[in-house]
Amino acid sequence: MAARIFEIFQDTFANRCPRCHEGQVFEKNNPYTSHGLKMNKICPHCNLRFEREVGYFYGAMYVSYGLQTALITLFYTLNLFWWNMPPLWLVFIIMSLVIGLFPVTFRWSRIIWISSFTRYDKEYSGNK
Ligand SMILES: [Zn+2]
Repeated sequence: MAARIFEIFQDTFANRCPRCHEGQVFEKNNPYTSHGLKMNKICPHCNLRFEREVGYFYGAMYVSYGLQTALITLFYTLNLFWWNMPPLWLVFIIMSLVIGLFPVTFRWSRIIWISSFTRYDKEYSGNK
């Protein structure tokens, strides 16, 4: 179980296909470049179709919601115990982070969503 979670994090941070760990899910590695949010339709290495059906990525919105809620909770807790900023400053900082990190959470949520339904398969990787 821990190895599976580690695998999902590894694929998410490296922008790699969960089935082969080789092909890129998004065309560019940097989410802040032009076309940084453009996905490949299929994995360039193992031909896994990333969008399995129409509306498949609606579920990634729940993952995105969870990631952003975790970020907000983290900053709220840090402020509660250490920073003691005025609430309006905290809201401004958190909203800036949520908006500024949108490309990252968008990509991570989609890769986590794909990874939760697709397992690594040695047959498709380069290390047979
Ligand atoms: Zn692949």
